[in-house]
This record gives sequence, structure tokens and C-alpha cells, in this order.
Amino acid sequence: MMIYMDHAATTQTAPEVVEAMMPYFTECYGNAGSIYRLGSQSKKAVINAKETIAETLGAEANEIYFTSGGTESDNWALKAVYEAYRDKGRHIITTRIEHHAVLHTCEYLQKRGAQITYLDVDEEGMVDVKQLEGAIRPDTILISVMYANNEIGTLQPVREIGEIAAAHGILFHTDAVQAYGQLPINVAECHIDLLSASAHKFNGPKGVGFLYINRRVRMHSFMHGGQQERGRRAGTENVPGIAGLAAAVKRAYRIMEEKTKKEVELRDYLMMRIEREIPDVRLNGHRTMRLAGNVNFSFEAVESESTLIMLDMKGICASGGSACTTGALDPSHVLLAIGLSPELARGSIRFTIGEENTKEEIDTVVEELARIIAKLREMRGI
Ligand code: PLP
Repeated sequence: MMIYMDHAATTQTAPEVVEAMMPYFTECYGNAGSIYRLGSQSKKAVINAKETIAETLGAEANEIYFTSGGTESDNWALKAVYEAYRDKGRHIITTRIEHHAVLHTCEYLQKRGAQITYLDVDEEGMVDVKQLEGAIRPDTILISVMYANNEIGTLQPVREIGEIAAAHGILFHTDAVQAYGQLPINVAECHIDLLSASAHKFNGPKGVGFLYINRRVRMHSFMHGGQQERGRRAGTENVPGIAGLAAAVKRAYRIMEEKTKKEVELRDYLMMRIEREIPDVRLNGHRTMRLAGNVNFSFEAVESESTLIMLDMKGICASGGSACTTGALDPSHVLLAIGLSPELARGSIRFTIGEENTKEEIDTVVEELARIIAKLREMRGI
């Protein structure tokens, strides 16, 4: 038996996505840059994929650039904006709870002369828009705030942030890796200039994603080489991956409403049962302004490592903090930022529900979890 509740780490590639990719491995293997028919078939797949994605965002097809995933999109957005606009200013505003793809890129830019303001968040993980507006300086060139947090699921007031950025003539990037494909996003309505997304978070293949770049943004090339992606991101296009990404986008938007409804029901049921049946727990993140499938709790007096190992022995896949920090003993920067003590942060477990999970699975998870937490506390004499 396996119960997979780690959909924020990654998802299964959907059969219809694999099917959409297959021809580009087998008969349609041409280079999208080649002139003959075999090449133009691939080029057509790339163009169609851009159109599919652009339509979901309310953007233009030529504003979509394919990348190797969320990490590359975040790196590109921040580094290229800094390079192109540093004559105008060197100040970037972001938050303490961003993914490391943004935070470590900011640290890198700091070493190259950028000045970064890291906004605090409240105890539910929400950015204060007033504080954000107060942090703006004449030399601010970019605001980068994630759409939804990967650990605690909190959704940020992206539209308000976009309006503030636009009113001050500052570019706005959002890391939407956890949000795109899960909920509707319109870049014009939210004044988003750059948006990162990744296919493997919504049943697409791993290692492919995109960066939306508004056409008025001045951006340097990220990868140097050939003229692919209008000279902005060199390298032979990952045509099977791109076709898979487009198929995953179509699927995600087709099932979005129903999937969200189901996940919210299961999420609220899981949260209710944990709070009712396990003593000394704390819900992390906002109770309602959170991703449909995200549940994150801290359990007093237990180490998440031990809980995760014991859950795994029962076939249950969950995560402590984020997948990228699992294995590291440092408490999650996100949980510290919402005010948890290092001890409580180390006792946190994230369950991220997906469309295939059932109420029976939630029942099993709660029963096993309650037993494991009680046992671990008993071993510590609590
Ligand atoms: N940003 C966020 C918020 C994420 O959750 C992740 C992945 O977990 C990334 C960026 C990195 O995306 P990728 O795995 O496609 O590199």
C-alpha cells in the first residue's frame, strides 16, 4: 500500500501527458530549428504550447519562454532583470519565505552589488502590502513575491502587490510554481511582469517549465548560444517536454474546478481530524487563504524526521518542511519566519493532497499519524 500525499514535491505524470510526449521521442524527432518538415513539426509543437499557456494567463504567445523548470525561471527572472536595470537602480524587494531558487539567487546578486529587502510575513505567512509599499525606494527595480508558498500553502495578495508595483513603475515577478495549474491566474489583472512555473507540479514531466516575460520588460539572454527563444534562451528546445507541459496545462485547466473542490474538502477534513484527535498541534499557514491541497502542522515534542520515517514504514509519503530541505537539519526558514521556535519548526509535517487521494486514505493517515505521534512522545517520556 502506498498513500502519496506529497504533491507539492512533485506529481505523477498523467497518462495523457505521456501520450502527448511520445511522438516527439519517436517519429517527430526533428530539431525545432530545422527547415525541413520533420523540424517544422517540432516547431509547431513549441508554438502551439506557447499559445496554450498564453491563453491561460491572458498573455501573448511570444511572452512565453520555455526553461528547465521553476529554478531556472526564478534565476533567469532575477538575474536578468538586475543586469538589465541596474543602471536605473539596485534595489530588489522580496520576502523571507521565498523558495531557495529566489533566496539563493538574491544572495548571489547581493554579492554583485544588489541591495535586497526581505519582507517579514505575519504568523500566517502573509505579506503586509503596507509594509511592502513602505519598503519601496527610488532605486527599487523589482518586487519578487511568490504566489503561493510551497511549505505552508499561504496565498499572497498578488493582485494588490501588482497594483502597487505598477503604480510605482517597478517590475513585478511572482514565483507561481505552486500556484500555476492549480488556480486561475491572469497576468494583466494582477500586473505581473514575470511569472515562473514548472510542469511537474501539475502532472507534467520533470525538468521543464516556463517564464512569462511581459513584452515591455528589457531582458538579456540567459543562456548564450543559438538563436532559440528569440535569442533569449539558447539551446535546442526540449520538444517532448514542452509538448508534455502543454498537455499538462490543458488537463490542469480542464479539471481545475472539480479538483480544487475535492482537495479543499479533503484538506479541511484532514485539518479538522488532526486538530480534534492529536493534542498539542499547531496549524501552519493561513486557515483559508491557502492552496487547496496543503496541510501543514507542527507537533510539539516530536522530530519530523522520525515521524516521516515511521509514516514511510506505513507506506505514507509526506514531507517535513519542503522536499528541498529534507535531510538538512536546519529548521525551515519559512516556519521560522512565521514565528515558530526552532524546536516546533523541526516537528512540522506537510501533507499535500492531490486529485487521486480519497477520504479513506485521509482516515488511514490520521489513524497512523496519531499512533506515531503518541509513540514518539511516549519514548520521550511525555
Ligand atoms: N519555486 C517553488 C515555490 C517551488 O515549490 C519549487 C519546487 O519545489 C521551485 C521553485 C523549483 O521548481 P523546479 O523543481 O521546477 O526547479
